[in-house]
Amino acid sequence: MPDRLPESAELKFVETLSSGTVDIDVYVPAWARPEPTETLTMGASGGRVLKTMLETPVVVRCGLPTHPNRPVNAKHQYTGRFEDERLCRGCYRTLHEDDQARAFEHETPGTTETTN
Ligand SMILES: [Zn+2]
Repeated sequence: MPDRLPESAELKFVETLSSGTVDIDVYVPAWARPEPTETLTMGASGGRVLKTMLETPVVVRCGLPTHPNRPVNAKHQYTGRFEDERLCRGCYRTLHEDDQARAFEHETPGTTETTN
């Protein structure tokens, strides 16, 4: 049985543009992580930090490396609106059953967008 996600975790959805499949990336805010997962030294220039951010793949739950932050030749993008059928089953299965409902907390093309 997979572990429960931390309460502060956010599910982000990454769409592969070529296939339309939507994978799940679990984002845990830095303050809620038990240990830093990566070290960006304060000495690094802003450009280098940005480059690192753009080149570091976002590994989604099923293990696929994606690049939703890449501005050019993008093959992936973050999305918040898609049909449930497009959700990656591999990613979905990694979620604890109590967290699986969160995979459906997204807009679908049929629903009206709510603006805050
Ligand atoms: Zn996946």
